[in-house]
This record gives sequence, structure tokens and C-alpha cells, in this order.
Amino acid sequence: MCVFCKIVNKEIPADIVYEDEKYMAFKDINPKAPIHILIIPKEHIEKLEDIDDTNKGIIGDMAVVANKVAKQLGIDKTGYRIVINNGPDAGQEVYHIHMHLLGGKKMAFAT
Ligand code: AMP
Ligand code: ZN
Repeated sequence: MCVFCKIVNKEIPADIVYEDEKYMAFKDINPKAPIHILIIPKEHIEKLEDIDDTNKGIIGDMAVVANKVAKQLGIDKTGYRIVINNGPDAGQEVYHIHMHLLGGKKMAFAT
């Protein structure tokens, strides 16, 4: 089972900031910004290639969770960045699809 599925199953701890029936958001263990949250579907979906017309709503739902968490953490007015690392060149480390929510400072655009 992947590390994020273990977090979903509460087999390993995480600092959870949002949870509903289908989604979870928790603090990144190695934050790259003052606020760095990961938003995941509870369902194990590896990568963007596994998103199609039958499940594309998941991406929209994750954006809605990001919006809620940004408000909850007080960065909705100052702004934030949403990132999906997909595949080797993007440096995807965990093959359970996730959105990074980054904020709390001015960020440079990194490639
Ligand atoms: P990515 O490169 O997009 O796959 O990023 C995976 C992210 O997951 C990295 O930013 C890691 O710091 C983070 N991460 C890995 N394991 C954990 C964990 N157990 N709890 C919280 N964040 C984690
Ligand atoms: Zn998983």
C-alpha cells in the first residue's frame, strides 16, 4: 500500500487539516513554503494519465478542497500556488495523485 493510502487508513500519522468522505488534506512532511498542504483523493489513483472522462471531477473536487483549506489557513487573500507533479521529469515521488497547496510567502516560479 502506498504512503498516502496508509495516511488515509490512519496507519501512519499525518497533520490532517481537512477530511471528508472522499478527500483528505494534510501538511507536507518536508514543507517548501510556510504553508504546504497536500490534497489527495482517498481513492488510490496514481497519476494524471489515470484521469479520464469517468473520473475527471476528482480534479475539480481537489481544487474546491484547496480553496477551502486556503481560506481555513488564511492565505486566500494573499494567494497561493497549486502544483501537480506528474511523472519523472516533474519529480513525482509519491504515485498517488495529489495537489500541493503552497503559500504564506512570495514565490518565484521554479522549473
Ligand atoms: P511529489 O514530488 O509531488 O510526489 O511530492 C510528494 C510530497 O509528499 C513531498 O513534498 C513529500 O515531502 C511529501 N510526503 C512524503 N511522505 C509524506 C508523509 N508521510 N506525510 C506528509 N507528506 C509526505
Ligand atoms: Zn495510494
